[in-house]
Amino acid sequence: MSKSYDVIVIGGGPAGYPAAIRAAQNGLKVACIDSWKNFDGSHAFGGTCLNAGCIPSKAMLESSEMFHKANHELAAHGVKLGKVELDLATMQNRRGTIVKQLTGGIAQLFKGNGVDGIKGHGRLLKNGKVEVTDFDDSSKKETYEAKHVILAAGSQPIELKAAPFDGDRIIDSWNALELNEVPKRLGVIGAGVIGLELGSVWKRLGAEVTILEAQENFLFMADQELAKTAAREFKKQGLEIKLGAMMTGAKASKKDVTVAYKDKDGEHELKVDRLIVAVGRRPYTGDLIEEGSGVKLDERGFIKVDEDCRTDVKNIWAVGDCVRGPMLAHKATEEGIAVADHIAGKVAEVNYEVIPSIIYTAPEIAWVGKTEEELKKENVPYKSGKFPFAPNGRAKAMEAQAGFVKMLAHKESDEILGVHIVGPMAGELIAELVVAMEFRASAEDIQRTVHAHPTLSEAIHEAALAVDNMMIHGVNRK
Ligand code: FAD
Ligand code: NAD
Repeated sequence: MSKSYDVIVIGGGPAGYPAAIRAAQNGLKVACIDSWKNFDGSHAFGGTCLNAGCIPSKAMLESSEMFHKANHELAAHGVKLGKVELDLATMQNRRGTIVKQLTGGIAQLFKGNGVDGIKGHGRLLKNGKVEVTDFDDSSKKETYEAKHVILAAGSQPIELKAAPFDGDRIIDSWNALELNEVPKRLGVIGAGVIGLELGSVWKRLGAEVTILEAQENFLFMADQELAKTAAREFKKQGLEIKLGAMMTGAKASKKDVTVAYKDKDGEHELKVDRLIVAVGRRPYTGDLIEEGSGVKLDERGFIKVDEDCRTDVKNIWAVGDCVRGPMLAHKATEEGIAVADHIAGKVAEVNYEVIPSIIYTAPEIAWVGKTEEELKKENVPYKSGKFPFAPNGRAKAMEAQAGFVKMLAHKESDEILGVHIVGPMAGELIAELVVAMEFRASAEDIQRTVHAHPTLSEAIHEAALAVDNMMIHGVNRK
């Protein structure tokens, strides 16, 4: 007799594993099937985020920032160092250890919550059952029954025909995180989140970095005032970002890559030692759904779901990067948890209007809600307040004065509609505004909230005051 569960989750990334844990907390019998394979052939739960994305990239961003600070910033504090040397092997080992600790933690969480964590490839059959192919022996298959199936298969990097990945010279973000030498010249296709984060890592460690971006507008999805400040700071750091540059071809030899691209001035050639292609990710649904199951994909290959992540088939759900919406770990997690609660008959919802975006560069970039461009386009009457980090005491103490906080509030109701931060710890600071917006706070609510002194969060307080021309530490508009 085949094993049966209340819930089977296919995929053990940040969408799938929290869904499995919450479903078990809700008293259901749960299995989570995952097929992540590391370069050494081993399995680990955690998906892209823990193994090849959020966590290893942040580990490398922190380490490379330390190296950069030791080289360029500590002297200003009166801290003199001798020759600063890079030990990339230790840096990479540290990254690997962090990843192992966190992915190992998921296996422990499964044990603690009574989830059956299964290594293997899961496939939804047309009769609604799930076929599992063993991770170590693909000839071994088993079929499980489930009352509910949650598809959480994630995404994979988009590969360009003009620059196919070879795992050595032309690489994706995962390879780019695990390089064991600093390339002298690094090319990146795409000045999106990955291009900027990984470009920053290798620039700080000594590479000459050139990023080619097809769009004319830098960070076109972000508030453009914020994007302008960020671009200026990246330029100062020596990150070369070429906008309106369309890559037309890349040819790898044993020792380098020749990249051809076009911009408004004509055709150009760029020689680099390694080329990272980071032009977005696409949903991964390879061999996931048997034809005839009734689960549909949309025109871009995402699994089609409603606002509660239901597919077209009763009791089959889909969450995370393989469905519409931003490809972010926290969005994936909240969808997984909400579905697990729906299955248990609880009330659950994901507020897609209030999902924070963070780019972990220096300065950091973070925002939530609408950009000024979006409000203009939607004809929403708004008022705005902006406060720079330059006069903020904590930012000065940190030698991190670049950037600002900008708050956008509805002109009549005063409700906060969007907040945009470029500056130190922007990714941490934005959390206050996410909570505020979740509770539909007004700019006045933030104005009347006590912010500790001296903290970076005082810049948020001042930006809220600036919305009504009441800044204390700045000159208000007349
Ligand atoms: P995934 O994490 O991709 O997990 C899916 C899992 O399902 C994988 O383990 C996969 O092997 C498995 N799987 C697929 N098909 C099957 C099958 N048929 N059977 C069994 N298992 C299967 N987001 C952030 O919010 N913050 C960040 O800082 C951040 N940094 C990133 C940095 C990089 C370099 C990259 C590449 C991404 C980053 N992201 C970040 C995005 C984030 O990683 C994704 O949004 C997140 O991992 C999506 O979670 P998921 O569970 O939907 O998919
Ligand atoms: P992205 O969508 O952020 O950026 C891709 C960039 O490549 C865009 O600016 C696009 O205009 C450009 N581009 C596309 N085709 C091009 C071409 N042919 N030539 C030149 N430029 C081209 O995608 P990404 O950086 O690959 O990241 C993938 C996903 O991972 C994103 O959805 C992101 O949300 C997620 N991620 C998040 C974080 C974070 O939250 N900090 C970090 C890394 C990745």
